Amino acid sequence: MNILHASSEVFPYSKTGGLADATAALARAQAAAGHTVTLVTPLYRGIREKLDDIGPSGIELQVPLGQAKLQAKVWRLEQEPNLTVLFIDQPELFDRESLYGQDDDAERFIFFSKCVSRLTKPEHLDLEIVHAHDWQSGLVMPLLGCERVGKVFTIHNAAYQGRFTADKFDLTGLPKAYFDWRQLEFHGEVNFLKGGIVFADLVTTVSPRYARELFTQQYGCGLEGVFQARGDTLAGVLNGVDYTEWNTTNNPHLSAAYCADSLDGKSANKQTLQQEIGLPACDTVPLFGNISRFTEQKGIDILIDALEERLGDEAAFQFAGLGMGDRFLERAMSSLAKRHPKQIAMKIGYDKGLAHRIEAGSDFYVMPSRFEPCGLNQLYSLRYGSVPIVHATGGLDDSVIDLGQGQDTATGIKFGDCSAEALGQALGRALALYAKPKNLAKVRDNGMRADFSWRQTTAEYGRLYAKII
Ligand code: ADP
Repeated sequence: MNILHASSEVFPYSKTGGLADATAALARAQAAAGHTVTLVTPLYRGIREKLDDIGPSGIELQVPLGQAKLQAKVWRLEQEPNLTVLFIDQPELFDRESLYGQDDDAERFIFFSKCVSRLTKPEHLDLEIVHAHDWQSGLVMPLLGCERVGKVFTIHNAAYQGRFTADKFDLTGLPKAYFDWRQLEFHGEVNFLKGGIVFADLVTTVSPRYARELFTQQYGCGLEGVFQARGDTLAGVLNGVDYTEWNTTNNPHLSAAYCADSLDGKSANKQTLQQEIGLPACDTVPLFGNISRFTEQKGIDILIDALEERLGDEAAFQFAGLGMGDRFLERAMSSLAKRHPKQIAMKIGYDKGLAHRIEAGSDFYVMPSRFEPCGLNQLYSLRYGSVPIVHATGGLDDSVIDLGQGQDTATGIKFGDCSAEALGQALGRALALYAKPKNLAKVRDNGMRADFSWRQTTAEYGRLYAKII
């Protein structure tokens, strides 16, 4: 099949979260399965300079945006067999310090979506599927109009919708009639995510449980009625892991290799992590890890309370955290670390290598997300032998098997109520498990052998694509 993906971030070129990992890995897996895949993404600051093999595609686009007509140069990178990445170069809009959160985000991603829809024309590409991701690419779906391609839209997180004041609608160039509650209008604003949901032939999200949750007021973020209207055409497909990037056997970020059959290197990684992050070196104390965007979603406040509750006995546990975002949460976590330097270490910032080392060096990985569409870190932690402790929601619930199911199958620890108290109890269960090395070894082994590769995900997308073309 000829497939085009549109995504505002793609690993390793740009990344703020799981969207970058997921779109990059899905495209690679589809290419490896024999499909012809094109990935379209903005050319942000610094990308071109890092890529030796990038070159002009020969395509230049002229795209109207309000009164202006903006030009975009399209750069091409043949990333690997069957996989081409096209970068949209428009320095005024994309040569910026950060990816999002700018005053003109509406203009930037209307422009990006228009460029993508231009590229789907037969003079540029011969396509069967156009697959857009999240609000930044949501408008690709209505902009395609009645083109003869299968239109697929994936929601990686319904909490981010791309809502803008009504006057931005004119910039889309879409028929005025679409500014209506049945299409793009949402409480007087224009909503890009809603546009993607309404106009796609098929809507997917990144886990089966999150797909069910989206129908509810608690998780639907105001769009539950729009999701309900899609009914069966909303499918949940669990993301996979790119094990070429996230593995413990051939990984330049780790100090020692290890795997389910040979765990020896795991404790060397624990030592490296303790040293790097400033915790006392000790192999016998259980070490909890967390890597997160600091937002309300990720439950960092709950984590701080639950840790604080259990602090005191230095031999009881250690915690290593990495994250950034909300300033209040950053300060609260840093202050906890300052007050308990022998037990809590926190690095505020973004650090790819340390993310791998936390996964490899910790014994348990804590993920108290209030909601989690799929979640990737718990999948990484399974493979890295860091037993996940997760709130039973969305993809966390779909990917972790609780200790209560028996240690023959269990891969982690789940808690039902997203509160500091419930997390505290789950941490207690983890400490009890740590005290029984044989049981811990079995649960860890089950997790390390679990297969969340993209092969299954790709096959599932193949079946879904086939239904609409
Ligand atoms: P989300 O997409 O909601 O942020 P996911 O668990 O799906 O959450 O994916 C997060 C991805 O971003 C993971 O690859 C994780 O390692 C990475 N990540 C998040 N915060 C940081 C950070 N501060 N430093 C390095 N990597 C991070």
